[in-house]
Order: sequence, then C-alpha cells, then structure tokens
Amino acid sequence: MHSDKLRAEIRKREDDLVALTRDLIRIPTLNPPGEHYRDICAFLEKRLAARGFQCQMIRAEGARGDSSRYPRWNLIARREGRLPGETVHFNSHIDVVEVGRGWTVDPFEGLVSDGRIYGRGACDMKGGLAASIIAAEVFADMIPGFAGAIEISATADEETGGYGGVAYLAEHGHFSPERVQHVIIPEPLNKDRICLGHRGVWWAELETYGAIGHGSMPFLGDCAVRHMGAVISEMETSLFPALAAKTTEMPVVPPGARQSTLNINSVHGGQEELPEDFTGFPAPVVPDSCRIVIDRRFLIEEKLDEVKQEFRDLLAKVGAERPKFTFDLRDMHEVQPTMTEPDAPVVRAVAAAVAETQGVTPEYVVSPGTYDQKHIDRIGRMKNCIAYGPGILDLAHQPDEWIGIEDMLVSTEVMALTLQSLLTRDDH
Ligand SMILES: [Zn+2]
Repeated sequence: MHSDKLRAEIRKREDDLVALTRDLIRIPTLNPPGEHYRDICAFLEKRLAARGFQCQMIRAEGARGDSSRYPRWNLIARREGRLPGETVHFNSHIDVVEVGRGWTVDPFEGLVSDGRIYGRGACDMKGGLAASIIAAEVFADMIPGFAGAIEISATADEETGGYGGVAYLAEHGHFSPERVQHVIIPEPLNKDRICLGHRGVWWAELETYGAIGHGSMPFLGDCAVRHMGAVISEMETSLFPALAAKTTEMPVVPPGARQSTLNINSVHGGQEELPEDFTGFPAPVVPDSCRIVIDRRFLIEEKLDEVKQEFRDLLAKVGAERPKFTFDLRDMHEVQPTMTEPDAPVVRAVAAAVAETQGVTPEYVVSPGTYDQKHIDRIGRMKNCIAYGPGILDLAHQPDEWIGIEDMLVSTEVMALTLQSLLTRDDH
C-alpha cells in the first residue's frame, strides 16, 4: 500500500485523536501518589479490546510505590498480524506530575483552543500515547495482513522512577528481546527529533559528623556543618571545573548538558526546623551532623566506578586538611548511560518516516535526564529502543501545558509509516 493512503486515513481520524487525548487528560493520574491508574488502564483496555487487541492489566504488586490504597496498574495490549514477524512496542507512561501554580485553564478539562489541547499531561505524555494508539489502529485496519505484532503499553510511575511500571514489566519478561524487537517511547521530543538515550545518574547522600556542644563554646564541640562547608568549598575549587571540562560525543540537548554535571539537591545540618507555631528561639547547639544529597550525571565516556572514586578522592583531600573529618557516603540510586546506535533498525525506520512526512533528516538527540528506556535497556536487555513523540519538551511539567494537534498528526503519520516499514514485507 502506498503510504499516502495511511497518511490520508490518519487525517480523517483527527477528531478521534483529539477526543482520545482529551479523554486521557480528563483522568487525573497524578503521581505522587499515583491516582486513577486502574481507571485509565480500564479505559484503554475497553478501547483497544474492541479493536482487536488482546489486553492484559498487570498490577506491579509489591513494587516500590505500590500499595492497596494506590495500586500500580499497567496495561499491555497486543495485536497480532496474519503472518509471523517482529514485534513493535509503543510504551507510554500514564502518570502526570502535580499541577503546580500559574494555570489559566482547567488542567483536567482538555480545553481545545487555536489548534492546541491544554492540560496536565497533554504533552508529557498523553498526546504521545494517543498518537501511538491512532497510528496502530489505522495501520492494523488498513493493512490487516501485516507480519508480526504491535504492542501498546500504558505504564505507571515514570515520573517517580518507573519501578511500579516499566521496571516491573521488564522484570517479568515483557520487554525481553525474544518477545519485543523494536521499542518506541512517545515522550515529547518534538516531531522531527529522535532521542537515542540518556546520560547516567549517581545519587548519593553524604553525611559529615561532628560533636554536640554549647553554641557559646563551639571549641568544645565539633561543627559538622563546617566540615560540610569544607567539602562544598573543595567542590567549587576543583570538582565543578573538572566536571565542566569533561565533554561528550553524546548529542545531549540542551547543549549545556553535554558535560558532566553535579547538583546538590539538599543540605540539612543541625537542629530540625522548629514548628511554625513555636514562638521561641532555637537553642544554641553545635551541630553534630550535616547531610547533603548529590545528583551526579555522567557521560557514556565515564565509568560509574571512576565517578564514585573521583568523589571519594575529593573527600580524602578534605580529610587530609581536617584532622577530625569523619563522614559516611551512602549510595542511593544509579543508572547507567545508554545510547542506541543511529543505524539500529528502529532508528532507521523512524528516520525514514520523518524524512517522508516532513522532508527533513531528523535530529538525533540524547536526554540530559533518564526516562523508562533505562529499564528496557538494563533489565529488558533491549538495545533497539528510542524515544520519539509529539510535543515540546520544554512545556512538560509547566503550567498551561499543551500539545499541538498538527504536531500530533504528523507524529502519528511517522509512527504508522514506521509500522509499515517494520511489519510489511512487500511494496514499500
Ligand atoms: Zn514523560
């Protein structure tokens, strides 16, 4: 079949695409705590089962975040073609982040205005989920004799690490290379960009210790905050310049993230903050503990061991100058960097579809932060995975979040043409 027919059929279903996106926005799947997961999965199951998909609702029982009050529900829908072949899987997260301040429209109404659909999750990423569903439905309706299978998953908790979503499904074999050969995650990366992967992450908590004492005689105690101050001062002097000098071949966007970075997420030292209704002064006490949480983002050219050693070396240097310096460094969380090869089959198929629909070569990018590809890569052992979807990344998590209807239509065309090139064997 000529691809023009697929594209024309997608244009005919614009109203369906818009209505589906609005319906998804109207289910307020806020995370945390993780509300209405079951409702949105049941809504999608009803739609997809009626269109020939076999659906499975899976609760990530016992996963991080799962509870009887806030169960972590996920949906996997699969539609088989008439011939054996490979499986193309579209994975979208169903959760949205908190609303926050500054909205001028109802965040859960799905207002349509000037070619845009507004709402929390419109671009991140209910618009992308809707686009992949319309693409799969159009493709399967127009070319029912296709080879292989299409899967659509709607998964929980991406915004909080994905442990009750893609990680759980990957641990239970749903993303293994024997079952799934191509994965597209329709995160809002813009309709002409292909995201190949992400940088690595190391989170750790550093605690420095001191000795409690009276604040009027600090020399009788040992101030843990001063020890931490020395650590932060050394970071300013040596670590931050060293990180800025480490650059990468990864095409990270924005370009400011094409280097190693470190954020100090929090500092806590000394007494707890006093209750708001307490009208007295704090007591004069020398702090015996100070904690920071660091968020180090590393490059594909770096090894996690070296990243940790670099920080330990800094602590050793501080310790050499401060006799009473004692500390604990606790690992919290780590993610390896990943980057799919630009000549991987799914990348080539999407790139050809972008060229055909938009007349441009796609821009290949890498995300500064991680998303669910990390679990598909590490647990699922799947290297043929990208993020591609409609929407402007900068609008994610913002007030008055929106997605452009024309962008969604173009992305839907790209996804349908990608299915055609990966799941048909003739005439393309
Ligand atoms: Zn997202």
